[in-house]
Amino acid sequence: MATTGLDRETLEAAVHSIKEFADRHLPDAKLLQLDADDEFPEEIVRRMCSDELGVQLFFVSEAYGGMGGGSFDVYRICEQMARIDVGVATGVLATFLGSEPIDVGGTPEQKERWLGRIASEGILFAYAATEPAAGSDLASLRTVAERVVEGGEIKGYRITGNKQWISNGGVADAYTVLANAPDGPTWFVVEKGEEGLIPGKHEDKHGIRASNTAPVTFENVLVGPDRLIGGVEGQGLVQAQAVFGYTRLMVAAFGLGAGWAALDRAIEYSTTRIQAGGPLSEKQGYTHKLIVPHAARLEASRAYIEMCGVRLDGEDERLNTEGAIAKYLATEAGNAAADASIQALGGYGYVKEYMVEKIKRDVRITTIYEGTSEIMEMTISRDRWQFHLKTRGAHYHDEAKKLEALARRSPRCGADIAALAMHALAEVLERARVARLTRHQHILFRLGELIAFAEGAQVFAEKAARAVEGKADPRSPGRFDAEATCALSRVFARDAARKVAIEGVAHVVSAGGGDDAAALESAAGLSAILRAQAGGIADMDRVADAIYGRKPKG
Ligand SMILES: Cc1cc2nc3c(=O)[nH]c(=O)nc-3n(C[C@H](O)[C@H](O)[C@H](O)COP(=O)(O)OP(=O)(O)OC[C@H]3O[C@@H](n4cnc5c(N)ncnc54)[C@H](O)[C@@H]3O)c2cc1C
Repeated sequence: MATTGLDRETLEAAVHSIKEFADRHLPDAKLLQLDADDEFPEEIVRRMCSDELGVQLFFVSEAYGGMGGGSFDVYRICEQMARIDVGVATGVLATFLGSEPIDVGGTPEQKERWLGRIASEGILFAYAATEPAAGSDLASLRTVAERVVEGGEIKGYRITGNKQWISNGGVADAYTVLANAPDGPTWFVVEKGEEGLIPGKHEDKHGIRASNTAPVTFENVLVGPDRLIGGVEGQGLVQAQAVFGYTRLMVAAFGLGAGWAALDRAIEYSTTRIQAGGPLSEKQGYTHKLIVPHAARLEASRAYIEMCGVRLDGEDERLNTEGAIAKYLATEAGNAAADASIQALGGYGYVKEYMVEKIKRDVRITTIYEGTSEIMEMTISRDRWQFHLKTRGAHYHDEAKKLEALARRSPRCGADIAALAMHALAEVLERARVARLTRHQHILFRLGELIAFAEGAQVFAEKAARAVEGKADPRSPGRFDAEATCALSRVFARDAARKVAIEGVAHVVSAGGGDDAAALESAAGLSAILRAQAGGIADMDRVADAIYGRKPKG
């Protein structure tokens, strides 16, 4: 029920035109060459952000000359960009990371000026937050912005400091820079060519070698007061937080797109590679390890991303924690899928020509930038821990009851198994509370992982139920029909429930909270979760049939 965004036809046309552009200008051979040469294809990226393709228009609201794509549209476009190349996608999308502080916190004049220029001129932005000593902990930044005061009036700021790992750092036309002003961390816009702005050398990276990453030095860079985003000092960290729901969704979509790009290559390869008398695609030992579980994880992530997209478009919410769950699920799934795809191609997967090796190196960044996976685990765990405390342990039991009601209405969607995961989670959290186990940071973070998987199973089951009821979102790619979506949901829910119960109990015991481990196993419903594994092989067979377009056997 989106209230903002593109209509379905415009969205599909946008996704299609990006794909066509890439087919023409970024074939595999070109992408491999850029990777080998460690080269940012600046001319191509600028053409993508010009009238020729106009990707930038989807990210800018109509008020400033764009087409006003919503978060759902942005996910589809980011997924498609990442399917092509995560490095090129980073080069294009860094602009929207960079301009987000302006979008959420800028004055009307600043929005008009900078967002307007992105739409009409296709200028490239860089987002300069990270510093050598301030990565995950941005609050420890050292870059300073000193006031320039004349006649008692602030006439501008002098910015001094070093930024590190900045995407588009060496090529951007404008930079949003986080610096400590007298009243606290504050975003400023600095234009290319300003005196004292010194981009450093392009980094020689593990992956996304087609993106430009560089340190940027600011030596007494003088900017006018109109460059202070929002006009009030000290809003920087609040503005940085405010963009996370949206920006993390973009990176989540990168993980999804790159993961599927790799897995689709493995799927195609397995249909023609004959071993032991038949194609690999016919061998369960292959598909049910290297293909099916990864398809389920990626599609669960998609369901979560879509839920976030719809809510961000329809309500005035920031969805900081949900953005973290989406990013965590999708980027870890993308990374695992790309790794499995190398295995799925055997020796061919290990050489560059077959692309999955490059995709694996590229997708790796998605679990690091825009907040590492560990920071996501912390964010998720801290937030949901409050839900647990405030409801005196009822929160996830209540969610389980909603899923049980859904399962009665839609018995095939996986909600019954997701409900078991939720009950188990509530019990593990409660035991952690009683034994005060979150004083161990490791336990806090591991709970974040279990929460993400349980909520992923919940949201996927809800999506599968809508598909059965003929209420699937028409903007979602229609690769899997309702039956296949249900089978994928059940595959994911079984894994999630098993993970929450078995690993959850193990974590509690490991931290000394296992005085009565048998009672916890029973409270967490371990035996019910093991019984719910029944039908797992048949569901994986169904998913494999859907992936390979086969008629189900029997
Ligand atoms: C290719 C690339 C492009 C990038 N693009 C940009 C960009 O455009 N703009 C920008 O501002 N930044 C960018 N970054 C920076 C990126 O966001 C940071 O690298 C990331 O946030 C992690 O910060 P760090 O590298 O300082 O690692 P650290 O924060 O030092 O983390 C190191 C490790 O410690 C873990 N860790 C950190 N804190 C804790 C904690 N409290 N408890 C437990 N574990 C912890 C982390 O999860 C990680 O595993 C980019 C980085 C790369 C590599």
